[in-house]
Amino acid sequence: MTGQQQRIVVLGAGYAGLSAARRLARKARDTTITVVDTRAEFVERVRLHQAAAGQSIGRWDLRELLERKGVEFVRARVTALDPDAKRVWLDGEWSMGYDTLVYALGSAADRTSVPGVAEYAHSVATPEDLRALPAGPVIVVGAGSTGIELAAELAESQRDSRVTLLGSEEPGGWLSTKAAEHIRTTLTGLGVEIRSGVKVGEVLPDGVRLVDGTVLSAAAVVWTAGFTVPDLACRAGLTVDEQGRIRTDATLRSISHPDVYAAGDAALIDGPGDRPLRMACATALPAGSYVATAIVARAGGAEPKPMTFRYQLQCISLGRHDAVIQFLDADDSPANRVVRGRAGAWVKERIVRIAGRAAGLR
Ligand SMILES: Cc1cc2nc3c(=O)[nH]c(=O)nc-3n(C[C@H](O)[C@H](O)[C@H](O)COP(=O)(O)OP(=O)(O)OC[C@H]3O[C@@H](n4cnc5c(N)ncnc54)[C@H](O)[C@@H]3O)c2cc1C
Repeated sequence: MTGQQQRIVVLGAGYAGLSAARRLARKARDTTITVVDTRAEFVERVRLHQAAAGQSIGRWDLRELLERKGVEFVRARVTALDPDAKRVWLDGEWSMGYDTLVYALGSAADRTSVPGVAEYAHSVATPEDLRALPAGPVIVVGAGSTGIELAAELAESQRDSRVTLLGSEEPGGWLSTKAAEHIRTTLTGLGVEIRSGVKVGEVLPDGVRLVDGTVLSAAAVVWTAGFTVPDLACRAGLTVDEQGRIRTDATLRSISHPDVYAAGDAALIDGPGDRPLRMACATALPAGSYVATAIVARAGGAEPKPMTFRYQLQCISLGRHDAVIQFLDADDSPANRVVRGRAGAWVKERIVRIAGRAAGLR
């Protein structure tokens, strides 16, 4: 960068924000980099299902982590954006100016779409959601990756509690037949009861009511059936999709506000096959890193090449000793190749560790 110091503010110290800050710290010149997050610690979100099953997971002090890299850390809640004045409001009390903003505020559990979720359901979407589950039968709602991983982890660690996995689709139904069959066999082997093709209409204090009126009782219900993103971008007038994710161009810049870049769950990024990239750590890390590259390129007067990205794998853990590693074709469809069992668990663990390294944790 030339002339006076430019200020880059990164909102959110999750996988996307940390990977952006890490690369900016290495590559950007004549710049102050500030990361804002409401949390004091980074907690590996991709291990929250393990934490819910009573395992201890790593925590990193964000100030220490970032200051070591020459990045300023501000612990505060972002309460508003003013993109015209190029300022962010923190804790509703004070504001900070920026030249370039990286919006990486991630996602949280959707607690509003279905009645009773906010009042009665547990969640593993964020560290703040984790609460000890009472003893007794557990219903996990949502048979996506998070629901599958959680059901397996709970069943493996609490053999005496019945775990039921409810979903509108077959667990892993979007993967190859081989992978989906392995998921079903392993979950069943762990004692998980799978009920597919069902939709929950309401969460009750002691169970759920399905849309067909059937009531299923449980000591605890864990909701993994949907995620929402913060409404800050929408409230500030940035162009967003119906969920509130910032619409980005091929260089991850907001299509309405070119001083704002977005990465991670809170960004809508075009992916293979005209589908947006998934809300995933596997997206957040390369997107955060790419945003830093694009910012540095533009600061140096060059136009960055568009982000190119494809998923190679989809990894779903099935307890601590098993997992499914689904290889993917270039169009993101499941390939024939699947790694299962202990080898799969080993690969998944390696990938989670590599993700931590990419975020600068190790
Ligand atoms: C149990 C579980 C398992 C998962 N497993 C996998 C997996 O195996 N593979 C995979 O690819 N993905 C997985 N995911 C998804 C993955 O965790 C997310 O896609 C990823 O964390 C998104 O990264 P992010 O940086 O966009 O957001 P986040 O990691 O959510 O980080 C956002 C940050 O923004 C901060 N923030 C939010 N709002 C504010 C505010 N108003 N003010 C200040 N700070 C704020 C938060 O405190 C947080 O630190 C899993 C998710 C869960 C819940």
